Amino acid sequence: MKYIDEYRDGTLIKKLTAMIRRVAKGNYTFMEVCGGHTAAIRRFGIPSILPDNIKLISGPGCPVCVTGNDYIDKAIAYSRMDDVIITTFGDLVRVPGSLSTLEKEKSMGADIRIVFSGLEAIEIAKKRSEKRIIFLGIGFETTAPGTAATVKEAEKHGIKNFYVLSAHKVMPPAMDVIIKEGIALNGFICPGHVATITGSSEFSFIPLNYKLGCVITGFEPVDLLQSIYMLVNQTNNHLPDIEIQYTRAVTQEGNKLAKRMISDVFMLSDATWRGFGIIPSSGLKLRDGYRKYDAESVIPVSIPTHVENKSCICGEILRGLKVPSNCSLFGGTCVPENPVGACMVSNEGACNAYFKYGIHE
Ligand code: SF4
Repeated sequence: MKYIDEYRDGTLIKKLTAMIRRVAKGNYTFMEVCGGHTAAIRRFGIPSILPDNIKLISGPGCPVCVTGNDYIDKAIAYSRMDDVIITTFGDLVRVPGSLSTLEKEKSMGADIRIVFSGLEAIEIAKKRSEKRIIFLGIGFETTAPGTAATVKEAEKHGIKNFYVLSAHKVMPPAMDVIIKEGIALNGFICPGHVATITGSSEFSFIPLNYKLGCVITGFEPVDLLQSIYMLVNQTNNHLPDIEIQYTRAVTQEGNKLAKRMISDVFMLSDATWRGFGIIPSSGLKLRDGYRKYDAESVIPVSIPTHVENKSCICGEILRGLKVPSNCSLFGGTCVPENPVGACMVSNEGACNAYFKYGIHE
């Protein structure tokens, strides 16, 4: 508790807020890229203690939210095969696909199991050799090493009935797209967990090519306020940089072992992001040497053309163009107990966080 208290210290929070108010002389818009930051910012009420001239907007860093309907539809199609067991992290089962969800399929008899790691899926594969076990691999650089380790584990033990349906993604290309779209930003609160793996250097193209500030940030109120103070100063001084506020977890070079694990097993590929369409070289697919574990390569599946709910503006929210309260379904038809779109499902989704913490603007 002592550790947490340090980063939630009321005196320090007041001091940082006063420091921000002192230096914030213009108008500033910063994007928090990570869904974990969106949740923390709303949970701790950070916007309510900032001056009105600092605006925080959410970005594309909620893994469940950016996973497109086509992926969910594919997972559902696999779940309908008699000899398939789907293994997945919990959030994904509630994400609406074109016509159904994994949760609904499970209630109709599909064998879909929630796991807490890929290794649990391996254990199921060992016990159920008559079935094909598909692990739904989603997430950014943070979760990709775990999936890579799982594939290596399958290889080590000669497991032949384990497959990955990969929707793993890497973050920098999506940030590049957002900047090129021309949205008015002064800088990024960069993702702390992703940077723990990648290191800060992955984001250096942003100040270098686009003259926008970046601060890699932790998830407590003191972390967030200190980062905002650093970003305001970068903006005021016209000295965009990549600074690490989250020094207790992030280094410039990142976690070499985890990065090697990713590059051993995965290669970059084009990937579909909800709201963005296909972003070149933004996904991770299994390398040729591990192709036998790639569900799509080994188990053919066809899905009808996917459809999106036209009323859901998740895509625009993920690109920083709109906020949840701009959606006509927000808080009415669409609530966490009955999510219409992906951004209302996960704790890291902007709609979920805005709804839960009552901040509708
Ligand atoms: Fe989509 Fe629901 Fe968010 Fe609207 S409130 S954008 S329907 S998730």
